[in-house]
Amino acid sequence: MEQLRDKYESFKAWQEQPHQVMPLSAEKHVCATCGTEFHGNYCPRCGQRATIGRYSFKSAFLLFLDVWGLGNRGMFRSIRDLLLRPGYMIRDYLNGMQMAYFPPFKMFFLGIALLVFVQSGLNIRMENVISNSKEVISQSLDETSDNINKIDKVEKKSFDKAAINDTININGKKLAIEKTEKSDQIRVNGKYYGLKFAEILQKFFRWIVDNQTVAQFLWLLVLSAPMYFLFRHNKKIPDIHYSEFFVSMVYITNLMTIISIIGEFFSPGNAMIDIIGGAASIVPLKQLYGYSYKRTFFKVALSFMILIILAIILAAIFAGLAYLYVRYIL
Ligand SMILES: [Zn+2]
Repeated sequence: MEQLRDKYESFKAWQEQPHQVMPLSAEKHVCATCGTEFHGNYCPRCGQRATIGRYSFKSAFLLFLDVWGLGNRGMFRSIRDLLLRPGYMIRDYLNGMQMAYFPPFKMFFLGIALLVFVQSGLNIRMENVISNSKEVISQSLDETSDNINKIDKVEKKSFDKAAINDTININGKKLAIEKTEKSDQIRVNGKYYGLKFAEILQKFFRWIVDNQTVAQFLWLLVLSAPMYFLFRHNKKIPDIHYSEFFVSMVYITNLMTIISIIGEFFSPGNAMIDIIGGAASIVPLKQLYGYSYKRTFFKVALSFMILIILAIILAAIFAGLAYLYVRYIL
């Protein structure tokens, strides 16, 4: 028991301690490219690494990773630190230790690209989770459009009486009715109604599935706004700028992406992965901004609530405008 506590204490101390760069050795190097003699890890004249020796499998592998911009600037350290001390790592990065860690935005785009690879078949079951979720989306939206049709039925009846390419008067306005081959689609003044909304929704969800990087980035921008509002008066980084907060959010997303990549690899399509990722995102926020777990969770939940309320208000405004448009302008 005592031993376990000691181990935990030293782990905690390691978590909070910033990354330490190895001290310079007294060893003198001669640059293999320009012949300059120097101390340190890089040639001050041409920038070549001091430690370039004979070609090895390790150096070949790192050069291979470098093709995709990986393998440099502590990628492995960044992944380890994001999993074991995320909040303190982000703190160090924001304090200026930029050479110690993999750049946040690069990690963001590469991480989601890899996650898409894993989700589309690079997992132990060779299962394409993305195409499965696309099917679910189109199925659920087919049900939605069925429901919309039921609601529209009463209104449709008056349209049904109109002949193909007829013109009828509603509210003193002339409407050109066209019926298409599909009986569930009716064109009024050249525009489709009824299925339009379900189609827009379907396109929206398909777009999100097809453009995960852009969708995630936009979502992060939206979510960061209420979260910055609730986290900016913290004790650990009291004068945090929005841009710095956004960088911390990008790194936290990277942590969730890493968890998703590992989870989706071993258990593709498992809904628990998202729950674990979401729960894990509380840890860096707590470590970075110093609120208790309870308060951190409360602030995150409140941010989501604010967004949901804003979305409902926006939807109501749009619905109202659409009603006014149909009622008075059309
Ligand atoms: Zn040199």
